[in-house]
Amino acid sequence: MILIDIAAKWIRAEYARWQKRIRGLFERWRPPFRLQVVDGDSLPPVVPVGALVLARDGNEDWCVGMKCPCGCGRTIELLLIPEAKPRWSLSLDPAGLPSLSPSVFLRDGCRAHFWLRGGRVTWT
Ligand SMILES: [Zn+2]
Repeated sequence: MILIDIAAKWIRAEYARWQKRIRGLFERWRPPFRLQVVDGDSLPPVVPVGALVLARDGNEDWCVGMKCPCGCGRTIELLLIPEAKPRWSLSLDPAGLPSLSPSVFLRDGCRAHFWLRGGRVTWT
């Protein structure tokens, strides 16, 4: 039934569009992620909601961790060390709000895909 296929495709696309729009609205109300530095080369066992935790050993930045902004409860860990692959780079704006590059994409679970810029999440 080709018509049902087309309808199903359309519904999926509409659903994704609305999901994006609702997420976008929600992001405006979320306070920005703030940087929290911990001493050492690994993340603490608990990463607080709303924080981007940076593990810094001496003057070497090892990794950052954050709770997945989709709300699934997962802790995302991203490596910053130059030897890591993939690796992310962290920058801070004058207000101290963190940005990450490139975007974060979880290949399993919730499959969240977003940018963190100036502490704010932009869904892709
Ligand atoms: Zn998630």
